Amino acid sequence: MHKVVIVGAGLAGHRAACELRKQGYDDEITMVGDEPHPPYDRPPLSKQVLEGTMEHRDLFFPSEDLHVTWKLGEPATGLDPLRKMVRVGAGAELPYDGLIIATGRGAREWPGDLGGLDGFYTLRSFDHCRRLKDNLLDQPRVAIVGAGFIGCEVAATLRGRGVEQVTVIDVAGYPMAGLGPEVGRHAAGIHTEEGVRFRLGTTVTGFEGNGRVERVLLCEGPPVDTDLVLFALGSAPSSDWLADSGLRLQDGNVVCDENLFAIGYENITVAGDIASFPHPHIDGLTRVEHWSAAREMGTLAAANLIGEPGQRTPFRAVPTFWSNQYNLKIKSAGFINQADSFTVIEEDSARRSLVVEARRGGRLVGAVTVNKNKKIIEYTRELAAAG
Ligand SMILES: Cc1cc2nc3c(=O)[nH]c(=O)nc-3n(C[C@H](O)[C@H](O)[C@H](O)COP(=O)(O)OP(=O)(O)OC[C@H]3O[C@@H](n4cnc5c(N)ncnc54)[C@H](O)[C@@H]3O)c2cc1C
Repeated sequence: MHKVVIVGAGLAGHRAACELRKQGYDDEITMVGDEPHPPYDRPPLSKQVLEGTMEHRDLFFPSEDLHVTWKLGEPATGLDPLRKMVRVGAGAELPYDGLIIATGRGAREWPGDLGGLDGFYTLRSFDHCRRLKDNLLDQPRVAIVGAGFIGCEVAATLRGRGVEQVTVIDVAGYPMAGLGPEVGRHAAGIHTEEGVRFRLGTTVTGFEGNGRVERVLLCEGPPVDTDLVLFALGSAPSSDWLADSGLRLQDGNVVCDENLFAIGYENITVAGDIASFPHPHIDGLTRVEHWSAAREMGTLAAANLIGEPGQRTPFRAVPTFWSNQYNLKIKSAGFINQADSFTVIEEDSARRSLVVEARRGGRLVGAVTVNKNKKIIEYTRELAAAG
């Protein structure tokens, strides 16, 4: 293999390039990224960078020693796996012997009409963060549509920055619904103590304002007055460029085998948030949007791509996730979305700590802890041993 192309200059793509070099691959690596920046870390965008305690320049992963040919600022727009060509931008073609797909996910956009108004933001990238941060100055009221991780992290960060009125709106009855009702209620209580206002169990019906958004209209209750709106509506897979490639996609995610090879292709591997893969703890396919999984998959996708077929390592790691909000260290392990029941094992309101087990048919499938870091390590080990 003499030409490896990595599409997606994010966490998984960067780890893949590091691993290729670590394994002694010294031929050409070309990394294609639609953002104008070299690979950087996303978790601090909703935390330290927005807070002002970390500079944008400190986000970048060290890339100088990778000797990569960069194609930044232009997206991959197509793939022909039979001719082994990636199309970039308006039509330039990039040949490869081996391809690593790591294009991740983009912010889900508001699906409705914005009434021609300004003042709407999303947060997925460095440029989104800079735009949001610049426009937060002198804005005392912020409405966040979506009470998932990013919505909650931003709410916490903004309250920490002294933003006067932060309102989080969601159709779900509690925040971070993906972690189950117990964690959601615990988090809602703490956010409320910290001054966040919630409008839960309701939907946004529209926006009003004069040039800029001034009010968010809800299907129940009075509108939310605001100076800006952040949409934190989750993510959508960045796979439009693969639509005509013949690669197998499931809900827009690229389907791969346990060794992360795109189904039917021995020279294409897939890593990170875009991958849909089998896992020993799951029936069928799964996907995760966690930093640690993207990092590990990037490493494996590279090692397996250039390794001998008999020496491939399957991706079997127990997924783990963390989120920092105020003084809360929220951590999860396993596949919480598989659970049919949640049990609170420990709760201490003074320490704001919580331990919740997630089970399916009585079997442990995951756990969530708040301010109980050692406990999550134990659960991760238990889940790994069970698998
Ligand atoms: C604000 C924020 C906070 C987060 N906080 C946490 C956290 O606290 N804990 C945690 O576990 N996880 C967190 N995550 C999730 C974590 O950052 C992701 O799981 C991880 O970045 C996924 O890595 P990836 O390489 O798959 O995708 P990404 O890091 O998203 O990289 C994909 C890259 O591919 C680019 N791309 C897309 N389409 C194309 C194309 N057609 N051509 C070329 N390039 C393309 C994208 O622009 C992007 O640069 C957070 C994510 C965000 C956005």
